[in-house]
Amino acid sequence: MSDEFDLVVIGAGSGGVRAARMASGHGARVAIIEERFFGGTCVNVGCVPKKLFAYGAGFPEEFELAASYGYQLDGWRFDWNTLRDNKTREIERLNGIYNRILDNAGVTVFEGHGRIEGPGRVSVDGDRVLECKHILIATGGKPHVPELPGDHLVRISDDLFYLDKLPERVAVVGGGYIACEFASILNGLGVEVHQLYRRDLILRGFDGEIREFVAERMAAAGIHIHVNTDVSAIEGDAGGEKTLRLLNGDSLVVDEVFYATGRVPKLDGLFAEGVSVQTRDNGAVIVDDAFQTSEPGIHALGDVTDRLQLTPVALAEGMWLAAHLFGEHKPKAPLDYRDVPTAVFCHPNIGTVGLSQEEALAEYGTIRVYKSQFRPMRYTLSDIQEKSMMKLIVDDASDRVVGLHMAGEESAEITQGFAVAVRMGATKADFDATVGIHPTSAEELVTLR
Ligand code: FAD
Ligand code: NDP
Repeated sequence: MSDEFDLVVIGAGSGGVRAARMASGHGARVAIIEERFFGGTCVNVGCVPKKLFAYGAGFPEEFELAASYGYQLDGWRFDWNTLRDNKTREIERLNGIYNRILDNAGVTVFEGHGRIEGPGRVSVDGDRVLECKHILIATGGKPHVPELPGDHLVRISDDLFYLDKLPERVAVVGGGYIACEFASILNGLGVEVHQLYRRDLILRGFDGEIREFVAERMAAAGIHIHVNTDVSAIEGDAGGEKTLRLLNGDSLVVDEVFYATGRVPKLDGLFAEGVSVQTRDNGAVIVDDAFQTSEPGIHALGDVTDRLQLTPVALAEGMWLAAHLFGEHKPKAPLDYRDVPTAVFCHPNIGTVGLSQEEALAEYGTIRVYKSQFRPMRYTLSDIQEKSMMKLIVDDASDRVVGLHMAGEESAEITQGFAVAVRMGATKADFDATVGIHPTSAEELVTLR
């Protein structure tokens, strides 16, 4: 059986769904193939359930804070099953919405495994063959766990969202986005958390002082951060205690071990024999500025290309490609990856856009740094020692704000707005000339002197 399309998208995640919908809107005949879950990583085992869990993890502190405002909330207790199941119900609702969005956009949806059989030919479950002018690989990524004795006992990020019961003690291995977010969530939910990182300071790539501040705050919140060490072996059994043998000679006994040691492109069974596209050493599909792979007619975007593994980036790439291939008005310039804002939803949150102090120094030579550390007003009636840190990095020659970093409550929300200003090239003088909104945390960013 054979069908004909202008575009066949493999993978209905952030990038694939957006590209399919937009291409259909431009008048193309589009099919999309999904083998696991509509909405992809972000909706099912990424951004959305993670953020819901992060909200959930914040309540114990809110209850403590509420007491300082006169509320008596003694005797509260937490039920993991309620949080997990309510989250799952919400994700199932979103799955349905994604399916309907595709239907309403006129995209033909296939459930099954997509495999590229040859130029312009994609099979679904090795059976039905779709003929098309363009193929889009939007298959995303999957967790990478290094090989080590006992690695069959390891859990990955997907598992957290469906745990039968909340463990009492966990180890989280890694120092990046997922490790920090998971450590904060589990700690907030009352779990004893040991975070293990192989170098000396977590969150490599972020601004140095923000990293130090967040590491210190996470430790103050109760997370045991073990740095300059790694796991050499794991002993135990799947349902019980696990003993971690560490490279520094120590041992650690926990109930679950989560690995958050990066993600690799998902290309499993994607190419039939004789079909290949060029990839980098880590498997990432190589594309040019127009998301064209080494094979004519085969495009790729999102996490499978391992540029910036962020949902809004995959969405922007999907829209760009759809307009480029089928739009009446084609994009005049490649997608601009400068000043992409990002947040880490650990506790405290990090919001960041532009260059770190270290990067700005290397790029501009002479910079000015403005910073502030303060206790947000919300906490001043309590003994809770929450703090926020803000930093502006300014290129001295042009006065342009080339980096804005924040850690503390509402960092992600605040940074999103300021990202527009940074992208537009706002100067420190522009920040200074902007009147603050009082009393807020965000006003600090326009009053830094
Ligand atoms: P995906 O969303 O992964 O979609 C790929 C889809 O392709 C999947 O549904 C998969 O089942 C399907 N597929 C794969 N192979 C095949 C095949 N052969 N046939 C058919 N279907 C196939 N980003 C943010 O911006 N903010 C966040 O807060 C955030 N939090 C995250 C938290 C976690 C725990 C994780 C893991 C990621 C998070 N991310 C976050 C990253 C974000 O989820 C990804 O960048 C984004 O989902 C990438 O979109 P994509 O379309 O490239 O791939
Ligand atoms: P990251 O790349 O952010 O972090 C991986 C961590 O694992 C690093 O600390 C790295 O150390 C460490 N690591 C890598 N390999 C090994 C190894 N063999 N042994 C021990 N440690 C190792 O990946 P994540 O898995 O945390 O997340 C994947 C991506 O998903 C992120 O990069 C991000 O783009 C996206 N994401 C975005 C979120 C958001 O927007 N809020 C939230 C979650 C994920 P080292 O520093 O030494 O390299």
